[in-house]
Amino acid sequence: MPIESKNQNRARILDPAAIERKLALNTFNVDRDRAHIRIIDHDVCLQCIRQQCINSCPATCYAPQEDGRVLFSYEGCVECGTCRIVCNEFDNVEWTYPRGGFGIQYRLG
Ligand code: SF4
Repeated sequence: MPIESKNQNRARILDPAAIERKLALNTFNVDRDRAHIRIIDHDVCLQCIRQQCINSCPATCYAPQEDGRVLFSYEGCVECGTCRIVCNEFDNVEWTYPRGGFGIQYRLG
């Protein structure tokens, strides 16, 4: 592969807006009657120093609150499972897949 082409590929990978553009192509059938993921106890988040869910969720479903708790919204979840793994110290995330017919529909595989 020519160096110029390699650099173009690398630039594409390092484009910080690339993931947002790809996520925008997906569609969601949100289940309004059932959240497939939830924070079990919001007060437990106050004990968690790193709050890795905020930094690691690719869909930014977790947001820090001024009081130290974490706000979660499941509507844009891409069902990657990352939050389930990173909350290993307090095990404070209840995680299931959406019911059949609900959730994300990928457009780019
Ligand atoms: Fe975010 Fe993935 Fe957890 Fe969904 S499963 S909330 S996309 S980290």
